[in-house]
Amino acid sequence: MQTLPLGTEPTVVSRPTLDADRTMVGLNRAEIGDRLRQIGIPEKQIKMRTTQVWHWIYYRGVKSFDEMLNVSKDVRQKLAENFTIGRPEIIENLASKDGTRKWLMKFPDGNEVETVFIPDKAKDRGTLCVSSQVGCTLTCKFCHTGTQRLVRNLTTAEIVMQFLVARDHLGEWPTPSEGRVLSSVVMMGMGEPLYNFDNVRDALKIIMDDQGIALSRRRITLSTSGVVPEMERCGVEIGVNLAISLHAVTNEVRDEIMPINKKYPLEELLAACRDYPGAKGSRRITFEYIMLKDINDSDEDARNLVRLLRKYDIHAKVNLIPFNPWPGSNYQRSEDRQIKRFSEYVFDAGISAPIRSPRGEDILAACGQLKSESEKMRKSEMLKQEALKQQAEDGISS
Ligand code: SAH
Ligand code: SF4
Repeated sequence: MQTLPLGTEPTVVSRPTLDADRTMVGLNRAEIGDRLRQIGIPEKQIKMRTTQVWHWIYYRGVKSFDEMLNVSKDVRQKLAENFTIGRPEIIENLASKDGTRKWLMKFPDGNEVETVFIPDKAKDRGTLCVSSQVGCTLTCKFCHTGTQRLVRNLTTAEIVMQFLVARDHLGEWPTPSEGRVLSSVVMMGMGEPLYNFDNVRDALKIIMDDQGIALSRRRITLSTSGVVPEMERCGVEIGVNLAISLHAVTNEVRDEIMPINKKYPLEELLAACRDYPGAKGSRRITFEYIMLKDINDSDEDARNLVRLLRKYDIHAKVNLIPFNPWPGSNYQRSEDRQIKRFSEYVFDAGISAPIRSPRGEDILAACGQLKSESEKMRKSEMLKQEALKQQAEDGISS
């Protein structure tokens, strides 16, 4: 892994080489074939050239057509004249003391998105937390992303790009056959992935494709706030692990902190979890549960949680997440001893309920803080600079 100075200082800043309209990243094989036809590649070569291009983009991770050494020079030139496989602008590249990494990337239309790499305890591998939207239409009260309006869905290319950028910085090309550093993916960044279903599905299919990045679907988890009508499709069409942002065990509390519950209440959500394709086998559904002081953390809540998971006969695992406060948030993190008590109760009932330790706090990479803080930071810098400019101008005129 590349070594970086630690702390919150932005380090490497790279120039963009992405052109949203001409990128080949994010296309499926048929679409790549169409593009090759457009530039006059003979029909009998289409399949072979498609395989080559795919291999270079997703197995080798090259950023320019020039590097595609087994592709003839004139074809490489034609490709480069018409398409790109470059990366977006990276405006922040941060490394936390605990090994967490964060990249803020900017797409050509000016929208920004964050991706976070969280190493596991042994630090020899880790999980990439990928965003699916810029902002979010849902307004969960504990979530900072929820205070931003939705700007737009990310394209397939932009979702895949987050993975490619992380691999670039972790120095993990070509795709290792074993011992990967970037060993799993969670769709737990900004946005609700099931509200951008098609692009998320297509991007994950590329990430899982065995001729390229070849990440197993067992190593990918999609997190949803509970968009019930799309859950079955997620199992059938993508086949990845499912995580549910549960956070409350009564409709009353869940309605209050997660307004989507009014549309798809707990009974419907848990029934959809019970019926999730693959959930009956060895795969467990993960339930994310943020510990909010005096809101959802009582002994009775723990009892209700166990009761509900049993009632719906769900093969479950619970992740207890100490709430991450952000400026203006109205909640507090539960007391450590209450979190522990809650966890023990659920464990004693035979359901795994580990307490997640907050990661990357020194680089604002924690859950529910994505993007907004960086935006705020730069806004405050801008204001500071404006104030300085004003002072300077005032100085000149006085
Ligand atoms: N929209 C999807 C995917 C985003 S996942 C979903 O909600 O599941 C983001 C995760 O971070 C969710 O589990 C969310 O509940 C959690 N989260 C949001 N704000 C948080 C906060 N302030 N502290 C801890 N976790 C938070
Ligand atoms: Fe959106 Fe998920 Fe945050 Fe809720 S928790 S506002 S669904 S990103």
